[in-house]
Amino acid sequence: MVEKVVIIGSGPAGWSAAIYAARANLSPLLYEGTMKPDMIPLGQLAFTTEVENYPGFPAGDIRAFVETAVDKDRHYNLPPAPKGHVRDGRPHYAVQGVELVELMKQQALNFGTRVVGDDIVSVDFGEGPPGRPHRLTTGEGKTVEARTVIVATGARANYLGLPSEEHYKNRGVSACAVCDGALPRFRNKPLVVVGGGDSAVEEATYLTNFASRVFLVHRRDELRASKIMAQRALTNPKIEMVWNSAIDEVRGDDKSGLTTVMVKSTVGAPTLEMPAAGMFVAIGHTPNTAFLDGKLEMNDKGYLRLTVPFRTNTSVAGVFAAGDVSDDYYRQAITSAGTGCMAALDAERLLAQFEHH
Ligand code: NAP
Repeated sequence: MVEKVVIIGSGPAGWSAAIYAARANLSPLLYEGTMKPDMIPLGQLAFTTEVENYPGFPAGDIRAFVETAVDKDRHYNLPPAPKGHVRDGRPHYAVQGVELVELMKQQALNFGTRVVGDDIVSVDFGEGPPGRPHRLTTGEGKTVEARTVIVATGARANYLGLPSEEHYKNRGVSACAVCDGALPRFRNKPLVVVGGGDSAVEEATYLTNFASRVFLVHRRDELRASKIMAQRALTNPKIEMVWNSAIDEVRGDDKSGLTTVMVKSTVGAPTLEMPAAGMFVAIGHTPNTAFLDGKLEMNDKGYLRLTVPFRTNTSVAGVFAAGDVSDDYYRQAITSAGTGCMAALDAERLLAQFEHH
């Protein structure tokens, strides 16, 4: 059997593509990925805490917001505010990243998406006219053929690439505060976060829940993060900025794991020896495109190149890209969801042409 649409990836782009493809009766088959480092099930949103900027999910007193936004005769529809979530004496709730993406998955399942808990490890797009079968091989060694493919494999966190960093991975070094921050080894201890973007600020802010103090080490003297996020870090009394600095080495011992971070100055100041129980690296991402083995065109950073303006076409007819795997610029849940929808519509239109011939 040749599938009409196979979707690779299970973040907002993958699920949005699945929702649209399923509603178009294309019976999509979605490869969700396994816990291998490359393609993480549910994508990076699963590593985020509160999501405050996804439209339709305002953070705060949701009940009160909706009551003002919705006609009174429809108020019986409104859910109560979740219990126990209070800020400044008022109900406060923000959707969690993992909740948001699980809801997307449920929505895709509701319309009949078939989900496989495996990776695609290699591809053979073949030669010929659009609509020809493309052959994909899974991690378990099975093959699947599809007339259209939507690549939505996202991007993964970068590390600094220091040997000592590698040595202390999972023993103090992490790229995910949400996954690891609550571990006992980090409680009431000083922690280091590396980076200057929104991710670094978000990680640092989150870690203040557990750490005695968070040092945000950035190689310049100005944050790249958005103004509102940057302000939060700069005014948080538990976060201390370490400007113009880079990590030289991390040190520790077998019993405790990481204990010390050596921080060198980028402007010639003396090297600092900082006691820390953890180092959280938040310095950007690399797209998950290795499994494609160069069979789709990429830009110089390895992100898939879209070949038609305002469309999701890649360099191979019938193969579309959605989400962070082809976006090194916006990289938002909402833009991923949007391009997932676009890719499903592009696939649907190509299949419609193919059926007429
Ligand atoms: P980013 O914006 O690319 O920032 C990466 C940071 O890491 C930069 O400050 C960069 O320094 C630094 N860096 C890169 N390589 C480094 C190295 N080898 N050594 C030391 N520092 C290094 O990445 P991001 O923070 O992951 O954010 C990615 C996208 O996701 C952005 O669009 C962001 O807005 C979005 N995001 C949004 C939210 C939110 O709204 N809640 C949360 C997280 C992420 P320089 O500044 O010197 O280049």
